[in-house]
Amino acid sequence: PAKPIQIKMVLLGESAVGKSSLVLRFVNDEFQDNKEPTIGAAFLTQKVRLDDSVLKLDIWDTAGQERFHSLAPMYYRNAQAAVVVYDITRAASLDKAKSWVKELQRQANTNLVIALVGNKLDLAGPAAGAAAESAEGDGEAAEAAEATEGRGRQVQAETARAYAEEQGLLFLETSAKTGEGVVETFTEVAKKLDLA
Ligand code: GDP
Ligand code: MG
Repeated sequence: PAKPIQIKMVLLGESAVGKSSLVLRFVNDEFQDNKEPTIGAAFLTQKVRLDDSVLKLDIWDTAGQERFHSLAPMYYRNAQAAVVVYDITRAASLDKAKSWVKELQRQANTNLVIALVGNKLDLAGPAAGAAAESAEGDGEAAEAAEATEGRGRQVQAETARAYAEEQGLLFLETSAKTGEGVVETFTEVAKKLDLA
């Protein structure tokens, strides 16, 4: 069997959108409810099998905090793929994702494959809103639900997709929690790479 083709990939996006959780789901097929934030960056690898090749993804999972912004070029420089993540329950996180896309288009590799990913799809539906309502009256539980589950979708898929199409990006929605769309994201990116 041929040696796997090594690919450098970077994850970017605002803090707490679920970058680390997506990587953890993809690499270890697990999810942690209260993941502690990434400091600097984390590095993980995972293989992806395509029809006639095997890729080894070297994944740089960056910290989203503004104070680490100056480190980002180290991770996207020479990268062949970038996954820019936002949280579908927080509109502001899409604005931040767009600013990352702009920076990548200006500074990174010209044939960089970029995927825009809307994460926390499990919080989109009416069931998620109902979880918050049923917790009402139970002070702390209601507060916790309100902070996350109660918010529901703020970014419509069509809005994000239209932007992604206009910019030539892949677009997917995911849930690191349920696993929906996660393998697809990394596979779609791998398929779009020019391996020649
Ligand atoms: P990062 O800062 O972008 O790396 O975000 P983390 O992966 O640390 O996730 C931030 C918080 O969001 C954590 O509490 C995660 O458990 C939670 N989280 C991440 N992905 C999802 C998801 O798909 N659904 C839900 N409900 N929560 C998520
Ligand atoms: Mg992280």
